[in-house]
Amino acid sequence: MQQSHRINNINEAGSDGWEVFSKARQMISKGVKVTELSIGEHDIATDKSILDAMHESALAGNTGYAKVPGITSLRRAVAERVQARTGVLTSVENVLITPGGQAGLFATHAATCDAGDRALYVEPFYATYPPTLRAQGLEAVSVPTKSSYDFQPQRTDLEKHLKGARSLLINSPNNPSGTIYSHDTMKMIADVCKTYDLWLISDEVYETLIWSSRHISPRSLPNMQERTLVIGSMSKSHAMTGSRIGWVIGPADMIACLTDFATNTTYGVAGFIQEAALFALAMGIKFEEKIAAPFARRRKITLSILAEFQNVKVIDPKGGMYVMLDIRETGLSGIEFANRLLDRHHIAVMPGESFGKSTAGHLRVAMTIADEEYAAALRTLCQFAKGLSNT
Ligand code: PLP
Repeated sequence: MQQSHRINNINEAGSDGWEVFSKARQMISKGVKVTELSIGEHDIATDKSILDAMHESALAGNTGYAKVPGITSLRRAVAERVQARTGVLTSVENVLITPGGQAGLFATHAATCDAGDRALYVEPFYATYPPTLRAQGLEAVSVPTKSSYDFQPQRTDLEKHLKGARSLLINSPNNPSGTIYSHDTMKMIADVCKTYDLWLISDEVYETLIWSSRHISPRSLPNMQERTLVIGSMSKSHAMTGSRIGWVIGPADMIACLTDFATNTTYGVAGFIQEAALFALAMGIKFEEKIAAPFARRRKITLSILAEFQNVKVIDPKGGMYVMLDIRETGLSGIEFANRLLDRHHIAVMPGESFGKSTAGHLRVAMTIADEEYAAALRTLCQFAKGLSNT
């Protein structure tokens, strides 16, 4: 039987960007010890207190269908949090609870674009962006950026790709580059969206992992509330990746449409997960800082190790869980380098090419293992690059 073009188109012919990761997983399954610096997952489990809250809620009977847009207490807590962090008036009607940020990315594109429409996203990008758009029959078009501009998008590059576009997807703090868009960049993006009548979908799932600079939510810029949909998640901020809990913030009429979409796709999020999320949010900023602390430490470790090596350049991560290394001086592509590093030293990193052409010749290193092991792997990587440059 023939599958739909849409489903066959999810991963374009050729590379899906995950080959090195899959090869590493295969090696692990055969008993090889591989140091994995490839995936965005904390090296700690979800906090026991959150699991206890989940357990108690389930035992108390919270196991039936939950309200589709989310339980009111959690929607209210999210609205208050967003209002406190951005200064933008936000109420329960502006919040849809989703099973993670990914479901929000899918739903917001379904709600803003029709099949065949052009949907833009900025490079470097989170690996699911193009497939998420293609899965809905959209023309997924990436906007390049340059490492010399710290991967901040430029107006001329955006304008080159605008013809027929309905939406623009951005991600700051950025996975994979660690860049945080400046106030000027956000103002420029807002202006482009207003001038060309685009929906702005702002993926802010790393908003609590900030090392320098300041995160600006574009929804807080003048006249942006009515055209901005913000994607939030507790995966990264609360180490709750497996719980699948996140949200979309947007205009009340759009949230009502997204609720109809959720009714016919996910049918909401389990009540005991939502109760646990409510508990986790109530733990406040101190808890979020505790979750963020290992990445802040490892960023410092990265910068001090990289200062010893000339042929690998680091893009100083301003936020997030990853660091981008520019290995172009070795003469290898990111894909070749990552494959050789895995074969020779059993260290798995993501080639920059997995995140778009803008990060070709780069590597994304996830700062997601214990400090000492992380430092040792990074040194090995740099020594390996030095050896390549010397040959
Ligand atoms: N957006 C970005 C930029 C991500 O890196 C991720 C996960 O790694 C997601 C969204 C999806 O996160 P989740 O669905 O776990 O909330």
